[in-house]
Amino acid sequence: MKVLFGIYVFALGSIFASFFGVIIDRVPRNLSIVKPSSRCDHCGHELNWYENIPVFSYLFLKGRCSKCHENIGSFNFFYELIGGISLLLIYLKFGLTIECLLVSLVSLVMLLIAGYDYKTHTVLNVCLWALFGCCVLLLIYRVCFLKYPITPYIFSILLAVIFFLLLKVIMNKVLNKESLGSGDIYLVGIMGLVFEPFELILAILIASLAGSIISLLKIKFGKNQREDEIAFCPYLCIGFYMIFIFGDIFIRLLLR
Ligand SMILES: [Zn+2]
Repeated sequence: MKVLFGIYVFALGSIFASFFGVIIDRVPRNLSIVKPSSRCDHCGHELNWYENIPVFSYLFLKGRCSKCHENIGSFNFFYELIGGISLLLIYLKFGLTIECLLVSLVSLVMLLIAGYDYKTHTVLNVCLWALFGCCVLLLIYRVCFLKYPITPYIFSILLAVIFFLLLKVIMNKVLNKESLGSGDIYLVGIMGLVFEPFELILAILIASLAGSIISLLKIKFGKNQREDEIAFCPYLCIGFYMIFIFGDIFIRLLLR
């Protein structure tokens, strides 16, 4: 039963990610997210239902359009895979509970923010508001029903905002230009609602480490220029996600 439900949760996550993929592709171009149905970017071939199954269609089509055989790009495949795996891990950690549902909602909005920032280097205000709403709901549930103390979260929000404002001022002075978008600051501030200070610091550290390593690799392989602006939200989401799932393990290891 648990395995069956796990498969269902994975499918649900990948379907959401697939829909987010459409949003990321169309909203920046001011196109409708409902119509027309998905097509090949190269030849305009309208995708059949079996070419639209998250994760599997890409594998089944070997990453190519069935009509013109052009490469269809791997972003959506990996994005859908991450969407599926992330919900599955949350389900395995929290079980079938209200907390699981609320954490899943937070995680899905983070997935959309990360993907959108990765592709367009912008964060939509509506996504930040949605994330804020989901985090407030999770906080209320934890404080009222799971008896979490509220003080650490208030401290987290203050810590997050002060830290990032300082970082922004320093980075702007050093690089002499806008280095971090304000979306990053709002994102960290909002996540202060669901992480205790120590967890928040760990998440930012993981994000900075992941961001530095991946940016250096991109520069090394010629995909990025040193002065390119970094989309930091995807890395922040990686950090937050790692702490959501493995936070207690990290903290246990560090405090040993
Ligand atoms: Zn095609």
